[in-house]
Amino acid sequence: MRVLKLRRRIPRRRRKLRPIELVPAGGVDRALLDALGRDLQGELGVQWWVGDALPLRDEWRETESGLYRSIHLIHALMERAQGGEGNARRTWRLAIADAGLCAEGVGEVFGEAAMEGCCAVVGIQPLRGGSGADGQVLRARLLTQAVHELGHLAGAGHCRRASCVMYPSRHIADSDHKGHTFCAECRDALKLRGVQKT
Ligand SMILES: [Zn+2]
Ligand SMILES: [Zn+2]
Repeated sequence: MRVLKLRRRIPRRRRKLRPIELVPAGGVDRALLDALGRDLQGELGVQWWVGDALPLRDEWRETESGLYRSIHLIHALMERAQGGEGNARRTWRLAIADAGLCAEGVGEVFGEAAMEGCCAVVGIQPLRGGSGADGQVLRARLLTQAVHELGHLAGAGHCRRASCVMYPSRHIADSDHKGHTFCAECRDALKLRGVQKT
């Protein structure tokens, strides 16, 4: 499994973390979303809330694999951003889908960040892979993937260090190994406030 690389299309300037609207895409365990929000606030110091659900549409699915094409979710989030006023435009939207995702030319992905840098999506289904994916493990993996995508929105590319959250996971074991924290170099590059762990 590969993670889509969009860093070349993401502006390299530093961006402050913005308030985050967590968007349940399809049916998602609300307790898991709330836990993610609290974890993101604890780790990154960001404001968050859970927004209106985004229905998953059948035509977004790839016929053979049954995976949802993540770009459709990104586009739906971007439409919300364009339709909003004031604060809505200064918000990052992170859709969480209890589904598998795929991207054109890449295949299955854990998540994707939009080239405009305001919207991203994470799929929960691949996070259930491997052994021991109980509630706490799933929560930890979701946090890792969410921080990774938000790192892209903040302007971070992929990192060569396997212990850094910006390392591009190919397997769930990569995610478990790297965890949700930035290496010193990525953290310094992003100048993230409130990120204190190494
Ligand atoms: Zn990535
Ligand atoms: Zn790094």
